[in-house]
Formats: sequence, C-alpha cells, structure tokens
Amino acid sequence: MNKDDLFEKIVSGEIAANILYQDEFVTAFEDINPQAPVHVLIVPNRNIPTVNAIKVEDEALLGKLFLVAKKLARELNIAEDGYRLIVNCNENGGQDVFHLHMHLLGGKRLGRMLPNI
Ligand code: AMP
Repeated sequence: MNKDDLFEKIVSGEIAANILYQDEFVTAFEDINPQAPVHVLIVPNRNIPTVNAIKVEDEALLGKLFLVAKKLARELNIAEDGYRLIVNCNENGGQDVFHLHMHLLGGKRLGRMLPNI
C-alpha cells in the first residue's frame, strides 16, 4: 500500500467515507466537498495514479468504473434527468488526488462543461 494514497486508505477502511458501493475491484463513495447534490467518486481499489498510467490490462477494470457509475446513477435517481462523469488528469486537468477516480455528478442542471464551449 502507498502510505500517501488517500483513496487507498478509504478503500481499505483506514479512513472513513460514506461508501455507496464496494466489490473486489471498485469502490464508490461520496465526495467530501460536493459540487452538486450528487457527487460520488468511483475508484479502482488498487492504485492507478492517473489516466497516463493506464495499461491495456486495465481495460476491464476501467469498464467496471462505468458500470458502477450507471448503477449508482439509477439508484440515486439521476439517470433519467442526466449526469456528468469526469476524470481529471494531472495539473492542467485539475487532478488533486493521484489515485484514478471518476466523478459522478448530478441532481441539478450542470450547465456547460467548460466556459465558452
Ligand atoms: P480531483 O481534483 O479530480 O483529484 O478530485 C479529488 C476529489 O477528492 C475532490 O473532489 C475532493 O473533494 C475529494 N476528496 C478529497 N479528500 C476526500 C475524502 N477524504 N473523502 C472524500 N472525498 C475526498
């Protein structure tokens, strides 16, 4: 385990979080600083620091992140109205935690993805 990996500590239970889903590959928990009425982080249980570190062997694991996002969106009643999935990478992408994670955001109209696009 990487002692500096916050999300690995949440996966293992060392740090508390409101976990909404967990299996042997993936964990999903509420973001501590929600940017929308629904803001969930979906992470692989093992550390992949950024999208840049993804390997071909990770293909199935990455697919599971989407399947968990879809399941939670339905359970949290945002599937029909819609939601946004975001994965930030490195400094320009605004990544703060270097354990790959997918943001699931919804529960309100989120507006344009970026200003002026
Ligand atoms: P990113 O900027 O894409 O790396 O996103 C990191 C996210 O982790 C932010 O939305 C933070 O609010 C969230 N976060 C940081 N610490 C915790 C924590 N202990 N529990 C839940 N979410 C956290």
